Formats: sequence, C-alpha cells, structure tokens
Amino acid sequence: MKYLDKVKGFLDDTEAKKLSSLIGKTSSLGPALEIGTYCGKSAMIFSEVCHKNNSYIFTLDHHIGSEEHQVGEEYHDEELFDVRLNKFNSLPEFLKNIEKSPFSENIIPIIGDSVEVSKNWKIPLGLLFIDGGHSMKAAKNDFDYWSKHIVSGGILAIHDVFPNPKDGGRPPYEIFCIAKESNKFKEIELIKSLAVLEKV
Ligand code: SAH
Ligand code: MG
Repeated sequence: MKYLDKVKGFLDDTEAKKLSSLIGKTSSLGPALEIGTYCGKSAMIFSEVCHKNNSYIFTLDHHIGSEEHQVGEEYHDEELFDVRLNKFNSLPEFLKNIEKSPFSENIIPIIGDSVEVSKNWKIPLGLLFIDGGHSMKAAKNDFDYWSKHIVSGGILAIHDVFPNPKDGGRPPYEIFCIAKESNKFKEIELIKSLAVLEKV
C-alpha cells in the first residue's frame, strides 16, 4: 500500500499479514491493543482489517522510545530527535503518518507508559500485541499488566521472539516462555519473530 511506503517501522510483511488475519478473527471477542506504536506502521496496517470489521486498534506508546532508540544506541534515528524537547520523540512523525491513513478512524492512539495505562484499563481485549520495550523489566511488565485483559479464546502475540540467542535479545523470548509455563496460554505458532498464543 502506497501510503505505507515511507512509514518507518519494524514489522515484517509475513508477520503483518498474520497479525491482521488474527485481528480479523478475534474482533468479535474484543478490540486489539498494541504496545509500541513507534511511527504507526503496524497500527496503520492493522487498521485496514479493523475498518472492514468495524472494530478498533488501540495503540499505546509514551513515544520517548525504547532503550535502543536513544541517542548513540543501535536503532537511533536522528530524524526522530525532537530539538524542541531535546529528546527522542516519535509522536509528531506518528501523527503525520496517520493523517495519510485511509483508516485512521479505526486507530485509537494512547500516549502514555504501558504500566500506568494498564492500571486504568477496563476493556476486554480480543488480541494483545506486545511490541514495546525490550528490557526484561519492560517486557515482563507488559506481560504482567496487560495479558490479564485478554479474553478466553483471545490472542497474545509477542514480537521479536528469538529462541536462538544468536538471533536477538532475550526478554521477548523469556515472556513467551513465562506465558506458556503459566498454563494460561497455549502456543499456536512462531512465525519469523512473531509468537502467537491463545488464552485458555
Ligand atoms: N510496532 C511498531 C514498533 C514499536 S518499537 C512497528 O511495528 O512499527 C517499540 C516502541 O515501544 C517504541 O516506540 C517505544 O517508545 C515504545 N515503548 C517502550 N517502552 C514503553 C513503555 N514502557 N510504555 C509505552 N511505550 C513504550
Ligand atoms: Mg518489534
């Protein structure tokens, strides 16, 4: 889709298609929520199926970036450095991008910290997509504070899950293991770095 061509983001096409299909299938159970908006690429992709199903994608981010997005770190993008605030800030780029999205009315942005927002959350979710901070604390918080909001039969999807340590960092994989061991989730599949589990 042309309007997505220049949108910065990390989601691979196969993973995006899988998630869109899962969001479509679970939309009758409840809306989908994504932790980690960044510049809106994934939310914009998901909004198409939400538009078809008359449902919503909530997308949550404090927009100050994860550890790896900060100045001097591996994934820092200097175009996203806000000189007025003197810090990383993906919010203006996100707002500019969703302006071009044909399905922006199906995207509900939430600007805040994952834990703080979760404490006020009451809506049962059909799907939760964890794609936020990659520190153990951030990943564990996202799982602990948000996975309880998924309805039975709903989906927990976790991005950047690498069973082999050579392929990438551990925390997303660790919470994937914690989810399975909790017996509250059963593994459905692992596609590229996207883990898909169903809430029992
Ligand atoms: N889903 C996006 C990529 C997300 S990158 C895409 O596919 O395009 C991870 C994002 O998580 C960053 O934008 C970062 O700001 C956000 N993040 C990290 N820790 C967070 C926290 N505790 N609360 C809210 N957002 C957080
Ligand atoms: Mg990711």
